[in-house]
Amino acid sequence: MKKAIIIGSGLGGLAVAIRLQSRGISTTIYEKNAMAGGHAYQFKEKGYTFDMGPSLITEIPIIERLFKQAGKPLKKYLKTTGLDPFYRVYFHDKSFIDYNGSEASMKEQIRKFNENDALNYDKFMKYASKLYKAVITDGLGSKPFISARDFLGFAPRAIALRAILPAYNVAAGYFKDFRTRFLFSFHTLFIGGNPFRAPSLFLMLPYLEKTTGVHFSYGGMYSLVEAMVKVFKELGGKLVLNTPVEEILVRNKVAYGVKVKGEVEEADIVVSNAHFAHTYKDLIPEQKRSRFKNKAIMKKDYGMSCFLIYLGVKKQYTQLKHHTLILSERYKELITDIFDRKILADDFSMYLHAPTRTDPSMAPKGCDSLYVLIPTPNLAGNVNWNEETPIFTKKVLDFLQYKFGLEDLQQNIEVQRTYSPADFARERNNYLGAAWSLEPKLTQIANFRPHNRSEEFKNLYLVGVSTHPGGGVPGVLLSAETTEKLIIKDHKL
Ligand SMILES: Cc1cc2nc3c(=O)[nH]c(=O)nc-3n(C[C@H](O)[C@H](O)[C@H](O)COP(=O)(O)OP(=O)(O)OC[C@H]3O[C@@H](n4cnc5c(N)ncnc54)[C@H](O)[C@@H]3O)c2cc1C
Repeated sequence: MKKAIIIGSGLGGLAVAIRLQSRGISTTIYEKNAMAGGHAYQFKEKGYTFDMGPSLITEIPIIERLFKQAGKPLKKYLKTTGLDPFYRVYFHDKSFIDYNGSEASMKEQIRKFNENDALNYDKFMKYASKLYKAVITDGLGSKPFISARDFLGFAPRAIALRAILPAYNVAAGYFKDFRTRFLFSFHTLFIGGNPFRAPSLFLMLPYLEKTTGVHFSYGGMYSLVEAMVKVFKELGGKLVLNTPVEEILVRNKVAYGVKVKGEVEEADIVVSNAHFAHTYKDLIPEQKRSRFKNKAIMKKDYGMSCFLIYLGVKKQYTQLKHHTLILSERYKELITDIFDRKILADDFSMYLHAPTRTDPSMAPKGCDSLYVLIPTPNLAGNVNWNEETPIFTKKVLDFLQYKFGLEDLQQNIEVQRTYSPADFARERNNYLGAAWSLEPKLTQIANFRPHNRSEEFKNLYLVGVSTHPGGGVPGVLLSAETTEKLIIKDHKL
């Protein structure tokens, strides 16, 4: 029986572990933290439940495929429900839109901003549907991008689809109003991309949401992690928590195991779900690497991070839907501050999660377990998060209470925790605290992203956000499919 070791239990790590274990490979996951899930972590305090990272599920068929391979019906393990609206988006001028998948509702709302934009909604979705077909239906999202042939097969189609132009520019070709331009370009931020630089290929995301919906799983996003852990264990897999992998063991360019707690654990297959930079820079001694030397790793472009505030509040605010975005007046300039100038600007845009709108069990009766997410520069900027955390938190809470109008917010807070870019680096080994690892831009996607099969070491594979196809829950689950395909091929399974 072949043996596999997975480093890390993020959603990509769990998915590939299930896939390998279900093929009869004896699989062990080593996770440095006390619970599985990676960014999809959760904590509970005083009756409030907080998902710490992902809060919405899209493209459920990818999850169904995973459970099907394990011989387990998803419905038995996870209870989900569709949301309407998907989000409420407040613009700086206090206008708002309830964004959803209904053509009629979207056109009616967009029409209030610009008549012509409403007419162009169908054209935009038709375009986005072609991108979706390429990535999801035709499988580019889970196709290994390893050789020049893979790339040459993809490039003409990408060019024909205008999929390599900046996402914002393409959206702006369909829409004129600043609000509508935002609505159909901001999705790249969900996968850590800069809308003004990420390729328009990612404009498939609005179509993906429209066709398969935006969902929430009862008990929080963490219930997906619990379901995956359950399935993995039922199949006979082993999950070892509180156990960081200290080194990936390589000999003559072949990975043969890992070092944990000073002990050697041998395996036929090693899969790292840790971010690319940590995998190579921290886990394989530099003298054993020729492809990814530290300098080359550090030269790559790492995307944004974020600052999170988790709030248990003895009140519910009707202005907030399950998912709410509150935007600053600045879009491009603020994005440039975050991605390029790497400064903490005076203004901010934010996303708020209020899961009790769908699942009242997430907080005590009449209360809210809110989280506030603010995109920030990664640690390549010079923000000292030890000093900045209390100042920034107060600034955000004052904004929400006095400018946005969440009355008496600060007087009603029972639980308050924060999570900064420095925490992403310390607790999850994200290089530069970049929450989505490598920025998904033209020179860092497909073949140009670290490959799912190590370019240098036999039997070493990568899965998760820093590899193809990239971040987001659907992305990392697709990356598990890609990695599995390569393992099957290499090990003749
Ligand atoms: C705040 C936030 C909100 C998000 N919201 C959404 C959303 O609503 N919808 C969506 O689709 N996506 C969302 N995303 C993106 C999505 O959550 C991530 O892209 C995805 O969860 C990443 O999964 P992964 O497989 O790459 O693993 P990660 O989550 O990066 O996990 C990697 C794991 O490896 C472990 N590890 C690292 N080093 C070691 C080591 N040496 N030894 C052992 N273990 C190690 C870490 O502890 C971690 O558990 C969000 C991300 C963030 C940060």
